[in-house]
Amino acid sequence: MPEPSPLTPLLEQYEGVKARYPGHLVLFRVGDFYETYGDDARLLSREVDVVLTARSPDTKGVRIPMAGVPHHSVETYLGRLVRKGYKVAICDQVEDPRFAKGLVRREVTRVVTPGTVVEDRILGGPDHSFLVSIVAPSHAVGAYAAVDITTGEWFHGAADGHGVDGLVSSLAAFQPREILWTAREEDTAAPLVAALRREFPSARLEAAPSPLAEGELPTSLRGPGSVLEEVGEADRRLASYLRATQPRLLPHLSLTERGSGGRRLVLDAKTLRHLEINRPMNPDDAKGVTLLGTWDETVTAPGRRTLAFWLANPLADVSGIASRQDAVEWLLHRGAALEGWRNRLRSIPDLSRISARVAGRRVRAVELAALRAGLEVADALGRTVAEGDPPPRLRSLAGELASPSGLVPLLESAIPETPSPGEEAGERFRPGHAPEVDRLREAERAALAELTALERAEQESSGVRTLKIGYNQVFGYYFEVTKPHLARVPSHFRRRQTVAQAERFTSDQLEEIESRVREAREGIRTAEAARWEELLDSVERYVPAVHRVSRAVGELDALGTFAHLAQHRGYVRPTVDESSVLVVRDGRHPVLDRILGESFVPNDLDLEPDTRRLLVLTGPNMSGKSTFMRQVGLLVVLAQAGSFVPAKFARVGLVTKLFTRMGFTDEIGRGKSSFMVEMSEVAEILRSADERSLILLDEVGRGTSTFDGLAIAWATLRHIHDQTRSRCLLATHYHQLTDLVRGLSAAENAHFAVRDGPDGIVFLHRLVPGATDRSYGVHVARLAGLPEGVLAEAERLLRRLESESVMPVSPKGNRRRGPRYTQAVLLAEGTTEHPVIDELRKLDPDRLAPEEAARTLKELHRRASDSSKRSEGSP
Ligand code: ADP
Ligand code: MG
Repeated sequence: MPEPSPLTPLLEQYEGVKARYPGHLVLFRVGDFYETYGDDARLLSREVDVVLTARSPDTKGVRIPMAGVPHHSVETYLGRLVRKGYKVAICDQVEDPRFAKGLVRREVTRVVTPGTVVEDRILGGPDHSFLVSIVAPSHAVGAYAAVDITTGEWFHGAADGHGVDGLVSSLAAFQPREILWTAREEDTAAPLVAALRREFPSARLEAAPSPLAEGELPTSLRGPGSVLEEVGEADRRLASYLRATQPRLLPHLSLTERGSGGRRLVLDAKTLRHLEINRPMNPDDAKGVTLLGTWDETVTAPGRRTLAFWLANPLADVSGIASRQDAVEWLLHRGAALEGWRNRLRSIPDLSRISARVAGRRVRAVELAALRAGLEVADALGRTVAEGDPPPRLRSLAGELASPSGLVPLLESAIPETPSPGEEAGERFRPGHAPEVDRLREAERAALAELTALERAEQESSGVRTLKIGYNQVFGYYFEVTKPHLARVPSHFRRRQTVAQAERFTSDQLEEIESRVREAREGIRTAEAARWEELLDSVERYVPAVHRVSRAVGELDALGTFAHLAQHRGYVRPTVDESSVLVVRDGRHPVLDRILGESFVPNDLDLEPDTRRLLVLTGPNMSGKSTFMRQVGLLVVLAQAGSFVPAKFARVGLVTKLFTRMGFTDEIGRGKSSFMVEMSEVAEILRSADERSLILLDEVGRGTSTFDGLAIAWATLRHIHDQTRSRCLLATHYHQLTDLVRGLSAAENAHFAVRDGPDGIVFLHRLVPGATDRSYGVHVARLAGLPEGVLAEAERLLRRLESESVMPVSPKGNRRRGPRYTQAVLLAEGTTEHPVIDELRKLDPDRLAPEEAARTLKELHRRASDSSKRSEGSP
């Protein structure tokens, strides 16, 4: 005989479900709560902050930890759980507890994972929700497939760079919520997972399931022509996961291009972060600091998604960019009409997500009514736009706004104009749509009228005016008679319940009417559910079509937003062409300009392929170097996304890759400033940059001692100049570089001007040609509040160092001569050496005891680094 289970039947049922759903947090419906036990209870209590209690003891008397959430607010908790990366199985009661014999039957009715939810309350905002599958080789190029099931968009492709880092970097523009990974070689798995964790700390990671067979992939996901084998594998694994989690949605997804003609400006993860395109570098910053935050004046949810996607995936295709610009320009010239259109757009709900919920069978009647109304607005707006003879991109968008034929009439005939938000049984359909439901509702109404009549009749015959009919869950309908009138209760009443001030009764007649009410209501529920399912089956056929309308809404909104911004902020249309120039007149930083307003100082830039591909920027700390470099990067991103830009004039020769590295100083907050990291990033840039790239290097080489850094910065600059021939801005505090630049044919110096004022220096934030001859480090130190004594000592030292030094011979001759710093002197051959060198010479290593050797080495090192710090250009 098997041993009796130590668990109560309920817990036994729960354990059974747990065993079938390993790795899931199981929420187990018991009465009005979703409960969970044991370790899951501890986890739930910790993650969503609910009380940890204990369920009554099992048969062995052990109390089991328990935590639960009320069923009516489960979605709020689900939202918090999936955003923290959990996978949740919802286990519901699948029979009515009132009629159940013994234990209520329970089954998992849905599984919720971060990348497969469709409910707004769980998604927590209009932003894209990407589920991604990646196939990673150790060194070759990997592949990704990314889907947003709520909008039907499916992207795939090869990674932008080699190995694990290249692959992880190409996902940055998606900000995935859930990642299914596959490592081709076993030893790639650990570094891959580690890299994913670092880059996407809140995403859920899981090893990808085995792929679907080629033929099982929906045709809408098979691209034209053959795809790379790894890409196909990523697709099929992603589809396999969806078939298990959201099977109804799989057929409604379709392949979408990431850029027009497949060409886009590649922004790696570092660049996206440094330029703060869609996320602030410091997560605590207000949202206003990102490019997206500053540009997001969209009026619809799909519009916001489109804008975010465009900014993170700008185009690298002149005609694609021009067609967006033509649309923006045309909209801009509509003036007041544009604002009218934006107001109409504003009333359109998130059509895509509603239709995804149709397919996911989680839609309410009010949402279908909103879908209908939104489609009508979009349709009418499309016709209005088409009437004005718009440019091609808008003409085709206007066409795509047309409602899919048959859907609006279907929704109109089925759904009431304004359905009751509470979803009471029998109120989902417009009268006439479901005759069976109408008939049963009529029967219910008739029975309820009889109840009222019966109440009146009993009042009159008994003479008790306060006798009334009430209802409760346990006993159903009853007569209630208050205590003072009990003597007059008629004899055909049967007593059912006693409450504080009254007695409750029933009668044959009451029971008969009650059973008709109950029958009618149950009939309504089943008839309505069946018709509802039928309706959703019909609406579901339109899901891909509604996704298309929604995408057109999003694009029109994004283009309208570009036009709106251009109009209100005075932005200009940049010329984007196949040249390799980068010319800006009176350019402003798109974000800082909004914050600083009038006090922002505009600047020019003039990169030209043969004479000025490369610009080395110098100037004291706080003079504006980093700001300018980000400004240039953002301007290229905006121009190639199709937006107008904050400048008087701009001409952008197409950029296909944009690299941005901010050195030591700007990364300090990230606690990861190791020289090794910096160098491997520079190495990656040098490997993959080409003539169409734009490279922004800020203080590279700063993470090491002066000479290493200078030497590396110089060699890097030279390589970019001679080999990759990319356009490049490089900011540096190594003033020696400026002399070396004069020997390069296509590089020039520029610096940020400062003025000496009575209280120190004044930053003009204006970029002027040529190199600076002073670093102003001491002045900046004064501004920063260093004690006067320290400043005086520093100035004295500086003067001495300056007088000791000898000018290095500049390769191009002698544009500027003047005192330089000791490190420059040391760099030039055969000049004075550091006193430490002489001391080293005097030492006899063979005669030093190990301890003494270590001490001496430390001391020499201290003195050497002290003096190099002192002589360094900026503090
Ligand atoms: P650097 O990189 O040279 O140390 P930053 O670019 O970090 O200097 O600029 C320092 C500060 O100067 C910025 O935070 C900003 O407030 C101000 N600034 C920079 N550029 C401008 C400008 N063009 N106009 C007005 N203020 C500016
Ligand atoms: Mg800086």
